[in-house]
Amino acid sequence: MEYDSVSRGARAMFFMLTPNESSFEKVEDVPQYVQQATPFFVGLMVLELVVGFLKTGAPVITISDGITSLSAGMVSRLPLLLMRGCELSAYMHVWNHYRLVELPWDSAWTWWFTFLGVDFCYYWVHRFAHEVAVLWAAHQVHHSSEYYNLTTALRQSVTQPFTSWVFYLPMALAVPPSIFAVHIQLNLLYQFWIHTELIRDLGPLEWILNTPKHHRVHHGRNLYCIDKNYGGILIIWDRLFGTFAQEADKVVYGLVFPIKRFEILYVQLHYYLYLWKKSKTYKTISNKLSTFLNGPSWKPGKRRLGDHNDNPKVCIISKDKMPTCFISHHFDRHNTQILSQLTILGMTGYVLLTLTSLGFLIDQRPSSAVLELFRCVVMMTLLRYNYMKPLAPSLAVPTEVSATVVCGVEIVSMTKIVSMT
Ligand SMILES: [Zn+2]
Ligand SMILES: [Zn+2]
Repeated sequence: MEYDSVSRGARAMFFMLTPNESSFEKVEDVPQYVQQATPFFVGLMVLELVVGFLKTGAPVITISDGITSLSAGMVSRLPLLLMRGCELSAYMHVWNHYRLVELPWDSAWTWWFTFLGVDFCYYWVHRFAHEVAVLWAAHQVHHSSEYYNLTTALRQSVTQPFTSWVFYLPMALAVPPSIFAVHIQLNLLYQFWIHTELIRDLGPLEWILNTPKHHRVHHGRNLYCIDKNYGGILIIWDRLFGTFAQEADKVVYGLVFPIKRFEILYVQLHYYLYLWKKSKTYKTISNKLSTFLNGPSWKPGKRRLGDHNDNPKVCIISKDKMPTCFISHHFDRHNTQILSQLTILGMTGYVLLTLTSLGFLIDQRPSSAVLELFRCVVMMTLLRYNYMKPLAPSLAVPTEVSATVVCGVEIVSMTKIVSMT
């Protein structure tokens, strides 16, 4: 039984489940595939790190970039704590009130039809996310890393799910929510493993499937990569709708205008502010609106998607096909302001400890008092030796004072919580 669920979890990562084992009558019975995938995410990331190191002699993940990606992954799941996935809530509403037919939930035909339908809708979700600036403001998070490894896959947007649900609604006219709930998760999970440079070419599979090779192009900022390869599981949509590009010159990853920041909220939200400022530079309402509704590269007088030739270029030397003159590539390697890897690791550990402790408190676990006290001791030690300075500059006033005050408040509130439970 135990082996079964591990095997199912592993196969779910690669869309290798049969309709039989992944069709459910009720939405409540659908497994939380994405949530259950965490150990596989970690396992595959470690595997990529080891294989990458053996292959190239260097780590394929850098701590600062990897942690920014993982943090984005974590915060992007937070809205789900407050509400059921936007996609599913809206979907169920349409299904309950407006469905035209009811495809049988226990038929393999329904399962395969839903697979195709979800993947087709995903293509359009994704294409709109690149071609409409206000949607790009959400999706650019996923493209903000200048590296391409499995951690990049987890760099997800907090705001994107609030708009993407619209694109799936037509399916609710016929497909039961329980089957949709399976495929919306499997579609997302499939896209994890394709974020790697270690798999170069998969032969004939490259014809129909979205593969690491195709998705590398999607993450590139070389001119030939812009607005290409939107597919989720299948690449056929790009071939059909004219957005396919074959991997050619070495791909340089990241945004055309790199953000050069690792702060999670900035990474998530900066582009909204940028669009607002951009729109204010125009006088006419039509130009102001176009700033949000046309492509991110749009300027007045240009076609809807703007002219990508106006953007900064990635230069290639043809001999060894290595990029040479891209702008501040891997900026974290050159930026002296960036903290040492060890400090970042320590701080991340502390933030994780804080979040875990918070979870314990909310769950009202008996051991939460002990964990919170432990966190307090860790924080005092960090403050004492000035390690908290980069984490919260406001705390960097005389350390003993702030340590005592902060922990004093903690201990008072902890006593309250313990006496309440
Ligand atoms: Zn994209
Ligand atoms: Zn991606």
